[in-house]
Amino acid sequence: MKLKIKGLTKIYHTESEGALALNDVSISFPETGFVVITGESGSGKTTLLNVLSGFTGYEEGDYFIDDVSFLAYSQEDLEKFRKNDIGFVFQDYHLVEDYSVIDNLIVSLLVVGVEYKKAKEQSLNILKRFGLEDKKTDLVRNLSGGQKQKIAIARALVKEPAIILCDEPTANLDGPNGIAVFELLKEYAKDHLVIITTHNYEDAKDYASELIRLYHGKLTVHTKIEEQYGRTEQKEERKTNFLPLSYLHFKNHIRRNVFKVSFLGIFIAIIILLLTLFDANIDDTWTKVASQSVFNNINANEVLVMRDNRGAMNEDELSSLRDNSHVTHSQLYGHASEMNYYYRENFDYEMDYEIGSQKTGHGGKEEYGKTVFSPLRNDYYLKNYVSFVGENDLSEGKLPTEYSEVIANNNYHIGDKIMVYFRDPAVHNFNTFSLEFTVCGIYRGNDDNLYFSSTFMKAFDFLEYYGVKSPLHVTLNLFNDLTKENTSTDLTYLPIYKPSLDDDQILISIYVGMAMPEIFRADVSIVNTNVTVFDNNMDVSFTKECFTEELTAKYIYVGKNVFEMIMKDYVSNTSRIYLDAYSYMDEVVAGITSRGYNCLSAYRTGSTVYDAEKQTQRAVILIVSLVLVFLTTFVYFVFDYLFEKKRQNVDRTLYLLGLSIDNIKKNSAMIIGVSCILSIIIGICLYFILAVALQIPFVQNINTYFRFHHLLIASGVTILASFFVWLWYSHRTSFLLKGGKK
Ligand code: ADP
Ligand code: MG
Repeated sequence: MKLKIKGLTKIYHTESEGALALNDVSISFPETGFVVITGESGSGKTTLLNVLSGFTGYEEGDYFIDDVSFLAYSQEDLEKFRKNDIGFVFQDYHLVEDYSVIDNLIVSLLVVGVEYKKAKEQSLNILKRFGLEDKKTDLVRNLSGGQKQKIAIARALVKEPAIILCDEPTANLDGPNGIAVFELLKEYAKDHLVIITTHNYEDAKDYASELIRLYHGKLTVHTKIEEQYGRTEQKEERKTNFLPLSYLHFKNHIRRNVFKVSFLGIFIAIIILLLTLFDANIDDTWTKVASQSVFNNINANEVLVMRDNRGAMNEDELSSLRDNSHVTHSQLYGHASEMNYYYRENFDYEMDYEIGSQKTGHGGKEEYGKTVFSPLRNDYYLKNYVSFVGENDLSEGKLPTEYSEVIANNNYHIGDKIMVYFRDPAVHNFNTFSLEFTVCGIYRGNDDNLYFSSTFMKAFDFLEYYGVKSPLHVTLNLFNDLTKENTSTDLTYLPIYKPSLDDDQILISIYVGMAMPEIFRADVSIVNTNVTVFDNNMDVSFTKECFTEELTAKYIYVGKNVFEMIMKDYVSNTSRIYLDAYSYMDEVVAGITSRGYNCLSAYRTGSTVYDAEKQTQRAVILIVSLVLVFLTTFVYFVFDYLFEKKRQNVDRTLYLLGLSIDNIKKNSAMIIGVSCILSIIIGICLYFILAVALQIPFVQNINTYFRFHHLLIASGVTILASFFVWLWYSHRTSFLLKGGKK
């Protein structure tokens, strides 16, 4: 390549005056050779190099590259020229201080499109030539001025440009080191053009093939010492290798990036969790029923439906309800299928029977048994119900007919033996008896219940003979009477407790009671009664004198007759429908209600129609998620702001190495994009670790409500945040590189 300047004048305009840095200078450079520019400080040497590299424009005259005027060069041409044909050794090095030595060299090769592997190899070779091999992994920041100077020269040489411009390359090198550098450059100058500036002419003169002397911006001497005839070719354009460039960025700022990416990952995991919560409605407890009725559901996907007018429903009505998009099937029932009437409010108590001993006046001991009340515990509350399964509920096997057969969940297999322990907790004698059951069917639900045959449930009456006289007895009677009407398909199940027995043993606790709600107290006018147990003949078994006034429990055990008398319509006219997923409950209940049906019970849902408190929770969750989203973006900005200076240094160097501003924007898009993707991956992994691997019960529960779009939203937010960060960053960087002041 041929460089030529003709009558070139460069003036620096400062606020007060203009400095004439180059004054009518004409030089024709050879295509190869070692050109030494000397002159005192301030004579215009650096300015001349800057003009030659295209970093600086000029006022008068012209500059020709291969006989093409610089003025005809587009921004793009100029960037290409700088990137492919020029190697610049800056007086103040412009190395990336927090990159390792070798990475500084590799970067310059990646910019000109050399593959990573090759770049590494070439960089190592040149480091060997400079005797810096053992420093290759050191950070540039920790090196001496002389070492930095050598690296700056090595960086210019390694990409083998047609022209190397060195601004005072030996200023920081001692005699022998300076001479070694001159020798290297001289060698290179055999078939390339090397232009160096120096104010130390004595050292350089032995190597120079041409000598140029500047004085106050004027060319005073131009001597050709030896003639050169070599020619250099313009290099062909190659695309910058962005991916390894961003890799180097991560590698050299590993701690900072790991921190940033993990932090963002945690945010993403939290956002997914919150979104899941929002959809799932944090609902994993049994709470109030949907419509003031007495029923609670055993199955989260189940709704008890009744006509508003309490009339009997027919099969056609039911199948029309089935048309609702999330309803999978329905069942017509002639009786109440749920009889768990506990419900929880501020002062709900449960009745218990306590046996103990107390000292008597004569120093002896006396056994006593008394009924006590304790606040209703949530876990009891959760586990207390009576329900049935039908053929539709089975995924495998058959309904039990023999008393020794049982239906279990899919932790079991057909034919498994289950040892079941029974006790009556109403009488705390801890006498248990055990029976062995064989699994004959697997049901679809994932609760821990066992479903027994109605044969067995009838046989269960033998508890009476076993000597247990308790509310249990009354309840079971009711139970069995109901099952009699449906002996062919209906099964009854009992809730299971697993106290300190072995894993394969199950203890059934029979808190099968019925707690009556307001309706009962209003209709029967026993509002102030504390707890009363009726038998089937409506004889009160426990009287209210048994209890203290302030204990106003709201539930009562009743016999079937009593129940039917009060709840006649409910007993005879309720049907059930099943949803494919609990989270559609709101939608379905709203649809059914609008068609003139009453949803007697539904797993608590988040709709305003059902629960204002729930709505508040949802609103809070939504706000928290939005705040988090906002915070994520903000934190991202803060991170990038904190790290910005360092990255801007890197970008300035890349710019000086010939990377165009557009490509610098591309490069930061790559870096931000990669950290964004890494954060998303970490976030998602973290979510699944929390939800699944660690088996945190609550989170695991949420996981059943996890939807793919939660993940998409959380990722989308991060991508959007990254995009804004990138916009902001690249705007700022190009502003600064174009000469803007902070
Ligand atoms: P040298 O490299 O030979 O020391 P320079 O090319 O750096 O000389 O400077 C030549 C003249 O131009 C000096 O008088 C210097 O003060 C002036 N100069 C250089 N750069 C600038 C600038 N960015 N703004 C204003 N004046 C400048
Ligand atoms: Mg200078």
